[in-house]
Amino acid sequence: MPKHPKRSPPPPIPNPALRRRFRRRLLGWYQRHGRDLPWRRTRNPYHILVSEIMLQQTQVDRVLPKYNEWITKYPTFQVLATTRLSHATRTWYPLGYNVRPKRLHAIAREVVANHGGKLPADAVTLRSFKGLGAYTVGAIQSFAFGRRAPIVDTNVARVLFRVFIAHGDAKSHATKRHLWVISGALLPRLQVFDFNQALMDLGATVCVARQPACHICPMKPICLSFPFTQDTGKRLNPKQRGSR
Ligand code: SF4
Repeated sequence: MPKHPKRSPPPPIPNPALRRRFRRRLLGWYQRHGRDLPWRRTRNPYHILVSEIMLQQTQVDRVLPKYNEWITKYPTFQVLATTRLSHATRTWYPLGYNVRPKRLHAIAREVVANHGGKLPADAVTLRSFKGLGAYTVGAIQSFAFGRRAPIVDTNVARVLFRVFIAHGDAKSHATKRHLWVISGALLPRLQVFDFNQALMDLGATVCVARQPACHICPMKPICLSFPFTQDTGKRLNPKQRGSR
């Protein structure tokens, strides 16, 4: 018995033709079915930061009214930075996970004190703010600054895993790392904003955790998990593997 059992190699990165098909299908679907959300009508880095922090572990329909209220009360980093934390925390109620308004307030103060009131665009500085993990940084970079930054949150991970991997442990570190690589490889040169928003929408509205709506999914012809069944939670159609 070898001391260290051999690890299986990560699944391959989708080839260029498959990547193009995925992008085309996703962007076409998003044009017709993408959700109209207020933070998609702006490129203001502060507004996008607020929306991303509010959306951490919170459903869109709960965030919507609070996002509008927050942006009306505290429209800029400067206004938030000079607001008392207790007021900001009260405004946040009842969103929960109350460390978030504190973090947002601290970021506003730091941005005003050290960055001239403008949110920096580079990943290293963004990661240095408390509460901004890899996903949130990618979201801010792509949504606010149009950078080619990948995102992987729970919804995106589910879509990419089902379409391109469909076997093994979806939650292992190796798989998670690989999903970031896939997400980066899929990014288009242009339309990064729409592409990343579309990925999240597909996972939130079609390729949901339980009972994904495969019959209306644009990825049906290229998805390794199609048709997905709740019984096994696995792909049923091995032929699909060779048919792309
Ligand atoms: S075909 Fe089904 S499993 Fe595949 S991405 Fe679409 S909804 Fe998800």
